[in-house]
Amino acid sequence: MAEVVLHELVKTYPGGTARATDEVSLEVADGEFMVLLGPSGCGKTTLLRMVAGLETPDSGQIVIGGRDVTYLEPRRRNLSMVFQSYAVFPNKKVADNIGFGLRVHGVPADEVRKKVEWAAELLQLTPYLDRYPAKLSGGQRQRVAVARAIVMDADVLLMDEPLSNLDALLRLSFRAELKKLVNEIGVTTLYVTHDQVEALSLGDRVAVMREGRIAQCGDPVAVYTEPADEFVGGFLGSPPMNFLTGTVSEDGTRIDFGGQTLPVPAALKTFQGKRLRLGIRPESISVEPASDGLRGDVQVFEPLGSSTLLTTELCGQVLKVQAPASFRAEPGQTLKLGLPPEQCRWYDPETQLLLE
Ligand code: ATP
Repeated sequence: MAEVVLHELVKTYPGGTARATDEVSLEVADGEFMVLLGPSGCGKTTLLRMVAGLETPDSGQIVIGGRDVTYLEPRRRNLSMVFQSYAVFPNKKVADNIGFGLRVHGVPADEVRKKVEWAAELLQLTPYLDRYPAKLSGGQRQRVAVARAIVMDADVLLMDEPLSNLDALLRLSFRAELKKLVNEIGVTTLYVTHDQVEALSLGDRVAVMREGRIAQCGDPVAVYTEPADEFVGGFLGSPPMNFLTGTVSEDGTRIDFGGQTLPVPAALKTFQGKRLRLGIRPESISVEPASDGLRGDVQVFEPLGSSTLLTTELCGQVLKVQAPASFRAEPGQTLKLGLPPEQCRWYDPETQLLLE
């Protein structure tokens, strides 16, 4: 196992106008599960491919286990990889698929068998060792690809959207299995996904990327509850964080959203007379059928089974509210909205950055 240190990695593809990665620095601790999360095209795969040695950075440095590997060929980096297109060999039985890399490296047959059995046990593939991949489900085939990667005793495991070819149910069960497995073997892992739920569920830490840069890196709960900027707040969560624009009163005590007001934390008093953005998660807002206090007019009412989603309007601004499943409201109805101060995050409208 090993620590992975990325230092100011820059990559521009030939003919590309923008940098695919723009001075990305990241430290992944020994045994840590780091998720790279972000929208399509933000540079996640490029970053992973540079760590793997499949792309060379224009500048910057990659250090694995204290060794500078920036220009080292892939097979000398001691990494294992699982990619989206989990290519398993169709003409090889599961056991031969899992042991393939070991045999290529000249590991004695006895040891290969032991390791294959170990990985098959961990990934619940023991009953299928003698089958051909065509006789497996998508989830089982994916587990074969993961088993093949983990038997290699690599310092670092790299995974690029390994669950994306699975249907929603399989994805859910395999996600939990993967989490258990990686905890057990404790290998340093870099995992690319654009699925926020997967990222939050799997990562010891999550690095949210945007346009070639890391917008925020931290513990999943912290990234979700304290988004460092409006992009992160808007990217994470379904529905995403709400943002309301208002103007702070001249005495600095309240914010006015256009006729309705809320108190402003004392620390933001200096914004008197200026605009501020309030960020709040839909599930942090309480609703009751009353028309005093802060009011929202119901536009859309959507029962979602486990909760109810309300689209409300407050002074011409849209506010999504996730209410309990039993909550009932009619379009056109005015509701009292509760925005707990401890759940409110404040952003600078110019920089879109979180204000302390
Ligand atoms: P996705 O989730 O869609 O896979 P990503 O976040 O992994 O996206 P990358 O594949 O790293 O993003 O791409 C980053 C940027 O680099 C994009 O603008 C993309 O168009 C560009 N890019 C990626 N690969 C190449 C390539 N081989 N040649 C030219 N441009 C590329």
